[in-house]
Amino acid sequence: MRDHYNVIVIGSGPGGEGATMTAIKAGKRVAVIDQDTQVGGSCTHRGTIPSKALRHAIQQLAEDEDGVEPNYEGLMRRAERVVQAQVQLRSGFYERNRVDVVSARATLADAHHVEAAQSSGIRARCRADKIILATGSRPYRPPDVDFAHPRIVDSDTVLQLKATPRSITIYGAGVVGCEYASIFRGLGIKVNLINTRDKLLAFLDDEIVDALAYHLREQGVLIRHSEEYERVEADDQGVRVHLKSNKVIQSDVLLWAQGRTGNSDNMGLEALGIERDTRGSVKVNEFYQTAQPHIYAVGDVVGNPSLASAAYDQGRFAAIHALTGVCEQQLVEDIPTGIYTVPEISSLGATERELTTRKVPYEVGHAFFHHLARADHRAHHGDAQNPVSPRNLARAGHTLLWQRRLRDYPHRPSGDVAAGRGQYVDVFHQHHLQLPDDGGGLPGGGAKRVEPRARLIERPQKQVAAARFQLQFPMKHTASP
Ligand SMILES: Cc1cc2nc3c(=O)[nH]c(=O)nc-3n(C[C@H](O)[C@H](O)[C@H](O)COP(=O)(O)OP(=O)(O)OC[C@H]3O[C@@H](n4cnc5c(N)ncnc54)[C@H](O)[C@@H]3O)c2cc1C
Repeated sequence: MRDHYNVIVIGSGPGGEGATMTAIKAGKRVAVIDQDTQVGGSCTHRGTIPSKALRHAIQQLAEDEDGVEPNYEGLMRRAERVVQAQVQLRSGFYERNRVDVVSARATLADAHHVEAAQSSGIRARCRADKIILATGSRPYRPPDVDFAHPRIVDSDTVLQLKATPRSITIYGAGVVGCEYASIFRGLGIKVNLINTRDKLLAFLDDEIVDALAYHLREQGVLIRHSEEYERVEADDQGVRVHLKSNKVIQSDVLLWAQGRTGNSDNMGLEALGIERDTRGSVKVNEFYQTAQPHIYAVGDVVGNPSLASAAYDQGRFAAIHALTGVCEQQLVEDIPTGIYTVPEISSLGATERELTTRKVPYEVGHAFFHHLARADHRAHHGDAQNPVSPRNLARAGHTLLWQRRLRDYPHRPSGDVAAGRGQYVDVFHQHHLQLPDDGGGLPGGGAKRVEPRARLIERPQKQVAAARFQLQFPMKHTASP
């Protein structure tokens, strides 16, 4: 490490990578410090990448593809290959751009000095003009649950399971909980999914959520809504989750998937007046500046939306602001969501519930996966999971307001949705990735079938203009750094 850098980035996940690549390409001297021995962040090692690799392997297993071992360890070996390929790729970005990458735990010694403590005990202290915290988050662990017990895991340690359990209880039915419910059920493992709320994934439309619950139950996932744990016991025989409703759920393993905590503790932030909330999220302004204007924070450590793509963009925006003092770019208002349950879900924009609350008139179009040629194809190949899956689109005026889709195997689900973000319905229709046979569902269009009952509702010019602008940049195609 050198004594002085223009920018020091702490954390090499998507947030840190976005910040680092932006700063280095602006000709600055940059170091990135990560406590992991390999770059990529939780995203690559414990979050997005391994979970999606597992999910993909489950899909392949369902399709009976050769080379997929029907046990968790086999799946993990496949996931690890994907992780390592990602690490190699990302390491190449840093090497090619001559970024100093340091494997150490970083703390802020004072407002301009970062202390890097390597696992070997070596410590280095460097000055930085600007500091960007991209330290991510970790699974929330309540103090009364014994995570030292090998049968109790969270979304990080579930990746270290050494044997395939016969049964698993997943406490928490958010995105991570639902995705892992699909993964474990896909392996034939008995799954209890405990939801502390009365519906799964309440940020989605009721119709989609109900369909997801139906499909998960069909697959054999036992869902219990509106339950809360009282205590958890684990021994050699298994784990017992005692619920406040007096039920006791027993299984081989418990996966705790109930929220996350920002990695902002013990970093010296308090001494600098940098505020954090009770879940460890660092408080920042619209430019991602903390209370110390030259110290920025991006990605999961600042809380929502807690998505890899958002973290990357936040990193870029913070670096631009740090280097130039301005940044006009912001996260898009409606971030497309991809949820890799079985069936998969993607969504964009407001729900019907929100539109109704906001008194926005809208119409709904439906298209069904089982009407598509691909569904026939899959059915003829003995696909037992070929479901009846709805897809909904709504529009107000000419603008596509939101889209929801749920089916067993959408390709590029977020991409499909992103392509339609804010666009005129007709243009979306023309550019839709799965035309011609998936054009249904768009009110007024669709080669396969459609219920053309949408009506044009006039909308303010400003909103239409915004839609036009988005049309020019329908999807971000970022070249490799
Ligand atoms: C199971 C799961 C599935 C997910 N699936 C998706 C998905 O499908 N799509 C999606 O967009 N998002 C998904 N996410 C969320 C996504 O992984 C995060 O939003 C993303 O990783 C955040 O990136 P980040 O750069 O903020 O932090 P991270 O990726 O968490 O990286 C932070 C890095 O900082 C390091 N660090 C922390 N503290 C220090 C310190 N003091 N010194 C040095 N280094 C430090 C950490 O070790 C880590 O390497 C998923 C998350 C989980 C848990």
